[in-house]
Amino acid sequence: MLNTPPSINLAVSSCLLGENVRYDGAHCRSKYINDSLSKYLSLVSVCPENFIGLGTPRPPIQLVQSTKGHRALGIANSTQDVTEQLQQCAHEFLRQNPGLCGFIFKSKSPSCGVASTKLFSPTGQLMHEHANGIFAAAVLAEHYPLAVIGDEKLDEMQCRLEFFTRVYALHHLHTALNSDQPINALSSLHQRYALLLIAISPAATTGLEHALTIANENQADFTSMYVDNFSRIILGEFNRETYVRYLQGSLSTYMNKPGLTPIKTALESYQKAQIEWIDLLDAIESNLKSAGYYFTGLSDELDSLCPRLLMGS
Ligand code: SF4
Repeated sequence: MLNTPPSINLAVSSCLLGENVRYDGAHCRSKYINDSLSKYLSLVSVCPENFIGLGTPRPPIQLVQSTKGHRALGIANSTQDVTEQLQQCAHEFLRQNPGLCGFIFKSKSPSCGVASTKLFSPTGQLMHEHANGIFAAAVLAEHYPLAVIGDEKLDEMQCRLEFFTRVYALHHLHTALNSDQPINALSSLHQRYALLLIAISPAATTGLEHALTIANENQADFTSMYVDNFSRIILGEFNRETYVRYLQGSLSTYMNKPGLTPIKTALESYQKAQIEWIDLLDAIESNLKSAGYYFTGLSDELDSLCPRLLMGS
């Protein structure tokens, strides 16, 4: 009998899923999320403004800087303040949906935006356009291990790659924690991700490796420490150089063999943003094959970065 793989759960702002929940009764359906991602991921819809009972259509709110920090206030009626309700909604939503690996937020929204929302002064002057919406900020403040991205950033291939790298890693972490033998499963997870972890943070990875050697002495403490540190590394800063270091580690036994210079050239091109990740993978696979190397070591790594998820628009 085939085992059904555990689903990868991703929260998505409802309006991106085509639901008519915006303040004006419309939606902002994302073709990529609905037509491509929905094939591979379980999408969990949430509209915080509806969740707290504002209804649709509704008078719009905006993000305002006040002496009490950022507030979500009515535009027409600034005495309407739904900040605490939106913050409570974040807490409640995460509590009701354990096992989420990522969250795609609608950019620019006073509730859902991630580093993309307009912030106004109390007198209505635009202060900047890079704030977090109240709900998104509260989700981030919960310190729940979650990959987050705004829908606008999903259009950038490198941001997409970084997001799904994190989503998959957190999914594999959850799967390990739910196994019958979590310590063994975490050890396998570590082997699977070691090269990526090292590429991101060699020092932190060394600490994790040391902890693995004494994992059985206090399993509960070890598990909680491993989860915290693995999540911190995976949710840390990524860039093209990280991926280059990761692939150089994965391919280290091949790089000096004859006939593989085109792979080095492709790595350099990717590092300089002249080609995208998918082109780099194609170059690696085709050059290994044409040079006569039968290489299985990368396929698992490639699966975990799921190139199929990167396609689509
Ligand atoms: S941006 Fe967020 S709050 Fe606004 S309609 Fe979409 S899901 Fe609802």
